[in-house]
Amino acid sequence: MAVNILLSGAKGRMGMSIQSIALEHGCEITCPIDIGDDPKEGIKECDLVVDFSLREATLPLAEISASNSKPMVIGTTGHSCEEKDEIISLSQSIPIVWAGNFSTGVNLLYYLTEQASKVLDESSNFDPEVIEMHHRLKKDAPSGTAERLLEVIKNTRGLLEENIIHGRVGMVGERRDNEIGSHSIRGGDVVGDHTVMFAGVGERIELTHRASDRVIFAAGALRAAKWVLGQDPGLYSMQDVLGLQS
Ligand code: NAD
Repeated sequence: MAVNILLSGAKGRMGMSIQSIALEHGCEITCPIDIGDDPKEGIKECDLVVDFSLREATLPLAEISASNSKPMVIGTTGHSCEEKDEIISLSQSIPIVWAGNFSTGVNLLYYLTEQASKVLDESSNFDPEVIEMHHRLKKDAPSGTAERLLEVIKNTRGLLEENIIHGRVGMVGERRDNEIGSHSIRGGDVVGDHTVMFAGVGERIELTHRASDRVIFAAGALRAAKWVLGQDPGLYSMQDVLGLQS
């Protein structure tokens, strides 16, 4: 039997992509909603809620999901720290898979970045920088995926948020050992490119993932939708879904 989904952001690029492949992944978008629609109307008939809308829409939707005991898959990015904290606290009552990027390849990139970060630690003198490029219509920066990559490096190296340097301009001085650079490029119709660079003296390692079709995110989100139905309340990542925890 197909999994019944309430999809928020149904008229957007991701929403359309999810709807185009839902049936072949054993899912049915029984309640597609977009701005102006009331999620309360269809939520009772759905097995779970999938959110690919706008950052302001996620928290109210998560509150409605929690009060109806419906699991959630969140793909929307760009939330403030306060919004993130409130959504995370709702995961005490429902299972939530929350991922800035649902592609299998990017989740492997997270894993490889963590491994590389452990080997190329601060004592090895390799400087980490994260570079991302997206289409000209993307509203938030850096991308949710870049934020996650920065977090992986920060945590592996035991650094702080203030060590992440977003772009450089003017007389910023020499690069400090404890910096992690973050750079966002916007233009054209690029679906999503991410490079993690470890620049050493005399050598440089680059791990790159390039997305060429949104369908990879849609397929991952639907895989997460089927997986989350069987889970206990809690906050899960796509790495949990893929069994990629190190
Ligand atoms: P989009 O702008 O094409 O679509 C967003 C849709 O949300 C629009 O149809 C808009 O009308 C709708 N919307 C706005 N406010 C709403 C509300 N209050 N309730 C319901 N719907 C509302 O954007 P997109 O490219 O489809 O991306 C959507 C989100 O998903 C963005 O935050 C983007 O960064 C993120 N995204 C995540 C992944 C991932 O793998 N996690 C991949 C791609 C995009």
